[in-house]
Amino acid sequence: MKPIQMVDLKSQYLKIKNELDEAVVKVMESSAYINGPAVKNFQQHLEEYLKVKHVIPCGNGTDALQVAMMALNLKPGDEVITTPFTFIATVEVVGLLGLTPVFVDVEPDTFNMDVRQLELAITQKTKAIVPVHLFGQCCNMQEIMRIADKHGLAVIEDNCQAIGAEVFIDNYPLQKSGTLGTIGCTSFFPSKNLGCYGDGGALFTNDDELDYRIRGIVNHGMFTRYYHDMIGVNSRLDSIQAAILDIKLKHLDEYIAARQQAALYYDKAFAGHPKIQTPVVASHTTHVFHQYTLKLTNVDRFRLIENMKEAGVPVMIYYPVPLHLQKAFAHLGHEKGDFPVAEALCDCVVSLPMHTELDEEQLKYITDNFIRFID
Ligand SMILES: *Cc1c(COP(=O)(O)O)cnc(C)c1O
Repeated sequence: MKPIQMVDLKSQYLKIKNELDEAVVKVMESSAYINGPAVKNFQQHLEEYLKVKHVIPCGNGTDALQVAMMALNLKPGDEVITTPFTFIATVEVVGLLGLTPVFVDVEPDTFNMDVRQLELAITQKTKAIVPVHLFGQCCNMQEIMRIADKHGLAVIEDNCQAIGAEVFIDNYPLQKSGTLGTIGCTSFFPSKNLGCYGDGGALFTNDDELDYRIRGIVNHGMFTRYYHDMIGVNSRLDSIQAAILDIKLKHLDEYIAARQQAALYYDKAFAGHPKIQTPVVASHTTHVFHQYTLKLTNVDRFRLIENMKEAGVPVMIYYPVPLHLQKAFAHLGHEKGDFPVAEALCDCVVSLPMHTELDEEQLKYITDNFIRFID
C-alpha cells in the first residue's frame, strides 16, 4: 500500500508531470516572470470556469482578503462580521487593517455561518460580512445576500476552501461559490483544492469599478504608471505559478470528483456508527471536500489520533481553538461560552486524509483502523 498522507501532492504531480514541466520551462525561457502571458491566460480561463466577469490574481489568499477590504474602503472602527470557526487568516486581516471583527456562531452540522444569528450582529458600524465556505461547502448565500442587501453591506466570500463548489439558488442557473458576493477570495496554497507549487491567490468580482480598484491596490496603489492614488500593496501571482495553475485548472472537476468519491467511501464506512457523525451537506450547495471532517461523541480524540498515527494514518484537528479564544484576539474581550457551537466543534472534530489520489486499499485501511480504535 502507498503510504497514507493528509494530502498527496507528489502522486498528483507525477500524473501530469510532463505537461507541467514543459509549462514551467516555457515560462523560464520566456523570461516573462512577472505578469507575463501565463498570468493573463490563467486569469481568463478561471473567469470562464467560474463564469465571473473579473479574476484578479494576487500573492496568496490572505492578501486577497486584505485587498478586498481595502478595495471596499473599510476604515478603522468599521465592523466586519465573520465566524469564529475558521483559519486565522480571515480575521487576521480584519485586525491588521484596524477593523473590528464581530463573530456570529456556526451551524452544528455544516460548520458554516448560522444565518439565523446574522442580523442580530449587525450594528450602525457594520460594513461587511465575510462568510467562510468551510471545508468545501458554500454558506447559505441566498440568505446572506438578502440580509446584506437589506442593510447595504458588502459581502466578501472566503472561498479559499471551496473553489469549484456549486450553489443552487431558486430560479437561478447554477453558480460557482465565490461569485455570488461583492468580492470572492481564494488561495492557491499547494494543499488547497486548486493549488500551485508555492503561494498564490485571487479575487473575483462582477463589478467593473471594484475590478479597477483591486488591480491598482495589488500593484502599489498605482493606476497610472508611477502615479500612486492610494497606499496599496505588492501582491502578485508569479508567472510560473500561473502556468502550473492553468494546467491544473483543466483537471479541477476531475480532482473534485475524486475527493467526492473518497468522501462517499468514508460516508458509507461510517454510516450509522453511534459515535461518528459524517459530514452533512446543505441542500443549497455541493461539497468539494477540501477536508473530510467528522464529529465524534464519547471518544478519546487524542488517544485515537495517537493510535492512528502509529498505524500510519495522519488525523488532524481543524481547528482546535475558536478564533474568539485565540490570544491574538484577547483584546476583543470574549470568553468561553460566547460562541458555544464553535467551541463544541473544536472539542469534537477530526479530519481524515483527503486528496485526489486516495485509492480503495488506503480508504479501507483508514476506515477499518478508525472504527477499530473507536470501538
Ligand atoms: C488557506 C486559507 C486562507 C489563506 O490563504 P493563504 O493563501 O494561505 O494566505 C484564508 N482563509 C481560509 C479559510 C483558508 O483555508
